[in-house]
Amino acid sequence: MKKVIIIGAGTAGLAAGIRLKTLGFNVDIYEKNEKVGGRMYQIEEQGFKFDVGPTIIMMKKEEFKREY
Ligand SMILES: Cc1cc2nc3c(=O)[nH]c(=O)nc-3n(C[C@H](O)[C@H](O)[C@H](O)COP(=O)(O)OP(=O)(O)OC[C@H]3O[C@@H](n4cnc5c(N)ncnc54)[C@H](O)[C@@H]3O)c2cc1C
Repeated sequence: MKKVIIIGAGTAGLAAGIRLKTLGFNVDIYEKNEKVGGRMYQIEEQGFKFDVGPTIIMMKKEEFKREY
């Protein structure tokens, strides 16, 4: 099985990893931060959640329908 190494677990790295894995590649993803997602992340403070990245494209289908 061919091996692929992806540097960075942002949207691009995760999406590429999923697709390559589906195609049968052995995929390793390396991320320098503690969490995956890259610029797509959330801050939680005092019970409130703040989306600080690509909210529109990443939100759940039901939420998108409700908001737009
Ligand atoms: C406020 C905001 C709103 C946005 N809204 C939208 C929107 O509505 N719709 C939309 O389509 N886009 C939106 N975007 C843009 C979208 O967030 C980015 O285009 C997308 O997240 C980029 O993904 P990426 O995987 O290319 O890069 P990144 O998310 O930057 O991920 C790169 C990853 O690589 C890691 N990395 C870097 N160097 C190394 C290394 N040497 N070793 C290991 N790991 C490494 C980083 O830590 C990071 O996790 C928005 C962005 C912001 C900031």
